[in-house]
Amino acid sequence: MNATNVLQKRYAAALMPNYGLPPVALVRGDGCRVWDADGREYLDLFAGIAVSALGHAHPALISAVSTQVAALAHTSNLFLHEPGIDLAERILALLGGPGGAGPADARIFFANSGAEANEAAIKLVRRHWQKQHLSQARPVFVAAENGFHGRTMGALALTGKASIREPFAPFGIDVRFVPYGDVDALRAAAGPDCAALFVEPCQGEAGVIPPPPGYLSAAREACDRSGALLVVDEIQSGVGRTGHWFAHQGEGVTPDVLTLAKGLGGGLPIGACVGFGPYGSVLGKGDHGSTFGANPVACAAALAVLTTIEADGLLASAAAAGQQLHDGIAALGHPLLAGARGQGLWLAAMLAEPAAADVEAAARRAGFLVNAVQPDAIRLAPPLIISAGQATAFLDALPGILDDAVTAREKS
Ligand code: PLP
Repeated sequence: MNATNVLQKRYAAALMPNYGLPPVALVRGDGCRVWDADGREYLDLFAGIAVSALGHAHPALISAVSTQVAALAHTSNLFLHEPGIDLAERILALLGGPGGAGPADARIFFANSGAEANEAAIKLVRRHWQKQHLSQARPVFVAAENGFHGRTMGALALTGKASIREPFAPFGIDVRFVPYGDVDALRAAAGPDCAALFVEPCQGEAGVIPPPPGYLSAAREACDRSGALLVVDEIQSGVGRTGHWFAHQGEGVTPDVLTLAKGLGGGLPIGACVGFGPYGSVLGKGDHGSTFGANPVACAAALAVLTTIEADGLLASAAAAGQQLHDGIAALGHPLLAGARGQGLWLAAMLAEPAAADVEAAARRAGFLVNAVQPDAIRLAPPLIISAGQATAFLDALPGILDDAVTAREKS
């Protein structure tokens, strides 16, 4: 038994089996590289589900986190602290006012995860309509088929993938699901009984599926017409992943509510629910809370992430490396490949067969971490710091990885 097998045995005996048995035991990382318990090195093209924006062991993150933990690790929400205020102000500045002049007219609630950010958004929507005395008239949430908003009960109710939602019904939230990308269905669903529309700018867990151009603008129009709130879930797409700070900015759409997590903390757990304009003040004193939310260490980490993305020009380099990977995959011409989709460093290599698990395993054997997000799609969401040379290394290895996957499939 090697060191990985020993850890897997202990894992299986002590942890719930909800994740299955992970095939790799990671021990340490440096930049875009990680090492497993047996000393094998991998190029990390997945960043822990689109989280480690600055890669691993980034000096800015180490310094911010260790300085903050040495000063004050936790306060609870009964006491304020400057890193939380700095971070909120920073995010508002990035969200920009009209024409980018000044900070956005918005306010933030900090949570610890994506699902929690969406729970805050759901409560905000409910509370808004309740304050208008219209919660009975506006009971319906609209969300997309195959969408993903998290595993807690509210976020799960809005999650369109039936196989992960249905075993846990009922939820106490009336959700109308529409096919993603279908503007007419969206308009029809967002009627006068609609409280809010939850939408991902590009569906991540469904397989990095971008909607047709103009979809987010159409969602904005549908909400404006019906009076429903537009909640944009940028938990996966936000913080530079698409080459924009936030994907909705690429479409020139302003949501009513925005949710963030994943890349924001660069590996430290933090989520955010941003309410724009009047929606920033809907949740009043006592309406919501979290013991760990806006934890100073997580806030310091997020500030380091945002500062480094800006200082190192990572939006532009992420867009360039993303284009390189996209074009390289699209040009490959391997029989198992059916093309590439996505934007920035958030891509899917589309497969001609449901061979994603075999490709993921073959990539691992070749020293690359990728993700079989769907049976016929491999997701790439590397750290934003990935270099052109590292992208080239993966593209050079890809034909061999695909050949290896084909051979493994033939043998099985
Ligand atoms: N929303 C989107 C779009 C996501 O991709 C995810 C996670 O993958 C979530 C919400 C849930 O985030 P978390 O796993 O941090 O709860």
